Amino acid sequence: MSRVTVIVVGAGIVGLSVAYEALQNGAAVTIIDRDPEGDKASFGNAGGIAVTEVMPASIPGLWKKVPFWILDPLGPLALRVAYTPRLLPWLWHFARVGTASEVSRISEALAEINSRVYDDLVPLFNKVGLADDLVRKGALTVYETESGLLRDKHKWDASRALGIEVQELSAAQVRHMEPALGPIVKNGVFMPQWSHVSDPKRIVDVLRNWVAANGALIIRGHVDRINPTTNGAEVVLNGGRRLSATNAVIAAGAWSAQLAKQLGDRVLLESERGYNTTIASPGVALERQLIFADRKFVATPLSTGLRIGGAVEFGGLKAAPNYERSKALMKLARMYLPDLKEIGSKEWSGHRPATPDSLPVIGRSGPSRHIIYAFGHGHLGLTQGPTTGKIVGDLLFEHKPRLNLAPFSVARFS
Ligand SMILES: Cc1cc2nc3c(=O)[nH]c(=O)nc-3n(C[C@H](O)[C@H](O)[C@H](O)COP(=O)(O)OP(=O)(O)OC[C@H]3O[C@@H](n4cnc5c(N)ncnc54)[C@H](O)[C@@H]3O)c2cc1C
Repeated sequence: MSRVTVIVVGAGIVGLSVAYEALQNGAAVTIIDRDPEGDKASFGNAGGIAVTEVMPASIPGLWKKVPFWILDPLGPLALRVAYTPRLLPWLWHFARVGTASEVSRISEALAEINSRVYDDLVPLFNKVGLADDLVRKGALTVYETESGLLRDKHKWDASRALGIEVQELSAAQVRHMEPALGPIVKNGVFMPQWSHVSDPKRIVDVLRNWVAANGALIIRGHVDRINPTTNGAEVVLNGGRRLSATNAVIAAGAWSAQLAKQLGDRVLLESERGYNTTIASPGVALERQLIFADRKFVATPLSTGLRIGGAVEFGGLKAAPNYERSKALMKLARMYLPDLKEIGSKEWSGHRPATPDSLPVIGRSGPSRHIIYAFGHGHLGLTQGPTTGKIVGDLLFEHKPRLNLAPFSVARFS
């Protein structure tokens, strides 16, 4: 077999993980990104290695809560009105997968991919110099009412059935683990398999430097389109430059749909904008990531400070961010962490690449086996990045894929 040459579009956690895997297997790798070192979802996310998140966003009965969320201008979910017509096909598919049988199918696929995460992530972190950047202390979901835990019982039972460890805790047990939490917390659930990273930006910076030092060529440029060729792919950059390779991988996060559509594949992918604030001197110390189930936000103790984030906003890739959402999350955080200070706080927002069924798109494109998709990881791109790299490696090097790729195929949107 002649040497595999790969062009990876996108230098986020997914593209870099693909590049890492391709290099490990002896391929010649070129990464193209319009801003390789710059801001992206992979850079400012909440840092959770959320392997226990196996339930899709669309679940039976969700529609009853959505109107309340949307009516609250700074609630956990927002739709920008002008954008809503463009969102309809995505919302329709989202509604369609919210049945018991679909939730069961999707959660099995998520559990399958997430079960591989540490086997793929830990060796990658060790190899590139990130061994000390994975904090394996689990995560805590906390509730402010007794009924909250009862409401989510089906979720925890379903997770248990898929092999996820969950331990229900009383208020005293929760506060013993995280003394910074105030009296608002009534109970919680500990998930020991969850972990978090020291700083998501450091993860992508170290990985990008490693792939560059180990032979990857990183080009700053905007990819306009990708054309299939007889034995490979041609990548066309804005300005007309053309590059060819035996394979191209589209790992352009929330911007991937346009490139896939040009190839003729129908893709349902939307930006799900999220917000956070990182506080350099928060005045409180947390041991692990906290998930505030009733208010839908999280807090992560990072090396750069305490990151408070969440929110889901559908408004496309061009709408300006609304940082009132970050401020609203800070207000909620003060309810849970009474001693929280905001010294040196920095707001951020980024685009989660969201599919309506909460599953990423990983697999060959419809028109060409030489063009491979690796995008749409939604809330779990940091978690699933290294495993996606491994799976794409299977396709690039013609190995049997390590898991059934049917649930991740782009064909599901046709
Ligand atoms: C607020 C928030 C919190 C999150 N928390 C978590 C978490 O705790 N755990 C977790 O696992 N995940 C989390 N996520 C999700 C995670 O960050 C994303 O799923 C992941 O970063 C997506 O990575 P990516 O490489 O696909 O895309 P990105 O990081 O967006 O990278 C895509 C890259 O492609 C480049 N690009 C796009 N189009 C082109 C083009 N045409 N030409 C050239 N370059 C192009 C962009 O410049 C960008 O650098 C969170 C996301 C947000 C927003």
